[in-house]
Amino acid sequence: MNRVLIFISFALFFACKEQSKETAKTPIVDVVEELSKTENTFGIVIHGGAGTILKKNMTAEKEAAYKTKLEEAIKVGHTILKNGGTSLEAVEKTINILENSPLFNAGKGAVFTYDETNELDASIMDGSTLNAGAVAGVSTVKNPINLAREVMLNSPHVMLSGKGAEQFAKERSVELVDPSYFHTEDRLKLLRKIKDKPNHVDAKSATSFYDPVIKDSKFGTVGCAALDKYGNLAAGTSTGGMSAKKWNRIGDSPIIGAGTYANNTTCAVSSTGWGEYFIRGMVAYDISAMMEYKGISLQEASQEVIQKKLTALGGTGGIVAIDNKGNVSMEFNTAGMYRATMNANDELTIGIYKE
Ligand code: ASP
Repeated sequence: MNRVLIFISFALFFACKEQSKETAKTPIVDVVEELSKTENTFGIVIHGGAGTILKKNMTAEKEAAYKTKLEEAIKVGHTILKNGGTSLEAVEKTINILENSPLFNAGKGAVFTYDETNELDASIMDGSTLNAGAVAGVSTVKNPINLAREVMLNSPHVMLSGKGAEQFAKERSVELVDPSYFHTEDRLKLLRKIKDKPNHVDAKSATSFYDPVIKDSKFGTVGCAALDKYGNLAAGTSTGGMSAKKWNRIGDSPIIGAGTYANNTTCAVSSTGWGEYFIRGMVAYDISAMMEYKGISLQEASQEVIQKKLTALGGTGGIVAIDNKGNVSMEFNTAGMYRATMNANDELTIGIYKE
């Protein structure tokens, strides 16, 4: 690609030399400059969940722990991209760091179901092929994002669930753990707090099920979107779902188009928040579709989908996304979202609250 660019640059230089004596630049030269700028550009953006995350409820130690983990995770992905690795690789390895931390509601730190078990969901998508893989309701897979990638690459399917997904994991030698691996004290306390609330579950009404205690507990799903040096986008999301979920409830995180979407012509997106609304709004795909159909920027599309459409539906949460030029969006309508981004110039930003 570099050689092709050099060749085009030379050809254009000689072609334009004659006609551009008085003007320093021609539109063609602008195009080449623009191409050179985006050539080899890369970037990465991550989230660790959105919700009622308020500074007044946070200790300095906890805040530092979250920031440290976000930085560690994003640097893993950034290093992969910088060294010429693929966006898919970067997304998977970055999410692994967050899945292995009890701080986030994914992998190790997954929340509990109503029955005090853990059921994990994940998905991944390759923007260059529109291939995708997802798993739902697994309880023995240490890193569900790895299994999602296996589904994408080594099965004829897009989504596997429950026991079948675990059987496939065994066959593909994906690391399995005893379900007790996912038991953490903090998450159990959160579940009991929810269950102790009177009328915490009303089977007839989804709205009362998500009463303020549940709504206000930070969700903590993790996700990543990346652009590699070859212009390929990828996104992935991993979660334990929502605390006190029942009936093998599955959220948006493993649903391609809702929790995760990537398309090289537009952007890569990972969602976090109240899953039912993200499914109904097809949030991740909608952002990509708005860019494609309306010709608007990633930031405009994200703002419209999160601040207007999702909010009008009554949904809460946010997204992280990156477009095919490396522009990043981190849009949310909650009090906070754990997030970080890093670009090709090694510039790192980390955020938690709405600033
Ligand atoms: N979206 C996830 C779900 O509904 C939860 C989250 O993002 O925190 O399962």
